[in-house]
Amino acid sequence: MNIEVQCCGMAILLMIWYFSLRQKPLGLESEKLFLITLAVNSFCLVMDILSIAAIIHREVIPELLLALICKTYIVSLVWVGYFGLIYSSTDFKGTRAQRRRKNRAYTFIVIAGTLLIYLLPIHYYLEGNIVYTYGPSCMATYLFALLFVLVTLYKAGIRGRDMNPKRRRAITIWMLIWIMAAVTQFFNANLLLVGFASVLGMVILFFELENPEANLDRETGAYNAHALGEYTKQLYEKEEKFCALLVACGSRAVGDEESPRQTDKALLDIVLHADQIKDVKVFKTLERELVFLTSSQERMWETYRNVKDYIDSCWRQKVSPCFVVLPNSLALGSVEELFQMLRLFRVDKRKNQTDNSIVLDENRIHKYKEREKTEAMIRSAIEEDRIEVYFQPIYSTRQHRFVSAEALTRIRRQDGTIVTPGAFVPIAEKNGLISRIGENVFDQVCAFIQKNRLWQQGIGYVEVNLSVRQCEDPKLAETYIRIMERYGLDPSCVILEITESASIRLRDILLENMRVLMDYGVKFALDDFGNGESNLNYIVDMPVSIVKFDRDMTQAYFSSYKAKFVMEAAMHMIHDMKLEVVSEGVETEEQAQAIEALGIEYIQGYYFSRPLPGAEFLKFVAGSGQQAIYDGK
Ligand code: C2E
Ligand code: MG
Ligand code: MG
Repeated sequence: MNIEVQCCGMAILLMIWYFSLRQKPLGLESEKLFLITLAVNSFCLVMDILSIAAIIHREVIPELLLALICKTYIVSLVWVGYFGLIYSSTDFKGTRAQRRRKNRAYTFIVIAGTLLIYLLPIHYYLEGNIVYTYGPSCMATYLFALLFVLVTLYKAGIRGRDMNPKRRRAITIWMLIWIMAAVTQFFNANLLLVGFASVLGMVILFFELENPEANLDRETGAYNAHALGEYTKQLYEKEEKFCALLVACGSRAVGDEESPRQTDKALLDIVLHADQIKDVKVFKTLERELVFLTSSQERMWETYRNVKDYIDSCWRQKVSPCFVVLPNSLALGSVEELFQMLRLFRVDKRKNQTDNSIVLDENRIHKYKEREKTEAMIRSAIEEDRIEVYFQPIYSTRQHRFVSAEALTRIRRQDGTIVTPGAFVPIAEKNGLISRIGENVFDQVCAFIQKNRLWQQGIGYVEVNLSVRQCEDPKLAETYIRIMERYGLDPSCVILEITESASIRLRDILLENMRVLMDYGVKFALDDFGNGESNLNYIVDMPVSIVKFDRDMTQAYFSSYKAKFVMEAAMHMIHDMKLEVVSEGVETEEQAQAIEALGIEYIQGYYFSRPLPGAEFLKFVAGSGQQAIYDGK
């Protein structure tokens, strides 16, 4: 009777073999281990049948051969247990190196067990249909197999809280079936259930965990997002370099219903087309993108060109693709970082219609990481109140004293050192944090003016920088007026510095903000005039009272005679418009004298002072005695 059970087991295993090999393998470690476990199981079942047959025909079989067959069968049971543990261990927590170390220990145990089982004596029982083996060799088998089963259960059960619950459940059930079969067989030696129990285990594993269909995307037949996650995780664990190409196809169709369908059709077509490209795995993500993975850079570029050309020729009218190429996966530290990057740059590229490809080379990744660090620094500075304001005095060439100052922001790091705005303002402008910094600075400036009654020290107003990004906010005027009201500050105590912007939309909102603030009593200055993008027309359009000559322009005045004429002409025109001029970046006495001689009203620069913390600024103003500090006219 027993041999029929084993034959049924064999039929089931053959079925699993068929379904497992029908699909192309993805190359996961667990996939390989599953096939090995399946092979050991099949071998075990064959040996089970052979050993029963050998015992039944023991008269005609030499004693040694009989022992060898029966012992090989029971040894294979221990190996099934061993591979069960090794297979499950791909899911246990810990690094690859830790797993390897443990697996080496298990391998040592299984080899020791094998030797012991072969050395110990075995006995056979045969009466009618009842056939089984017993004796010290079988006891050793039980012990070793049980050891592996218990370790697996312990790891999956007690230590497996971080495991995928589905995998944890499947592995636990597999092991429990084994234990139940072993206990039953231990007390009823004539019921040869253990071999069949491990077949049942294989069935559970196959349907629950290793069904290759579960890795496929139903619509396109490419590997799915889950497979992508598992596969890349494995490559990162093994530190195996790979190249990735992400292709996103936004639909050009208008209308919500049509666009996802269009994208799906395009993706299916591209996957079918890409099937002919060798050594490349194609995945579809949950966001309807395709990810191509390959180990060779050449192959990746080839795939990029191939897919791009194909989309251009067949789908150009219907979808707008974007491509993100990662030539070396090791430039990124983890699979999480990989996905974050691919997504991020895909979003960046989608905004950009003309150039739809981006290469994530090491340089770009490095810059991005630096940017991330700076962002984190800015956020923590805002949250922990480490945004500071420095003041740079501005000298009046008419009154021969300091009449105002420019407020310039700084971040104080946790270690007390200072970060200047060049290192964080451009990034804060990109991610929008500049609005919070700007408001914070404006608040501090208003508080400082009010608390120290700056007008009594001869400082009539403080210039505060406004970022282009802030000007896009229709609520800017309202917010700034609220801040001034909170401190009961006279609006003439501040001047807001704006810079030029090409965007018309922005200009409309900016003009509206300016109108409201000017009605309230705030004046404006145009900053950075002369930095390359300046345009005299802009001054004509903008209701500013002051124009600030950029440091580059001031410096060029002294080094190039052409620049000298430009600056003089610009100054005359600005004066004709009844506006005043501040020259920034004046560093020497000669420069200060020349600028004054030119007729410019205000000078700001290191020659007088660098930007100073509030208390030092007050001391500086008080100490200067508010007299001419050089022999100006
Ligand atoms: P800016 O508004 O043109 O400010 C003038 C910059 O020139 C300041 O640099 C100042 O320290 C520097 N400077 C002044 N005189 C001299 C000089 O004689 N020689 C040299 N080499 N440099 C001089 P800082 O403080 O590093 O600020 C750089 C830029 O950061 C500012 O340029 C401004 O665009 C931006 N910024 C500073 N604070 C804020 C702020 O609160 N909000 C916004 N949106 N931007 C700010
Ligand atoms: Mg400025
Ligand atoms: Mg400036």
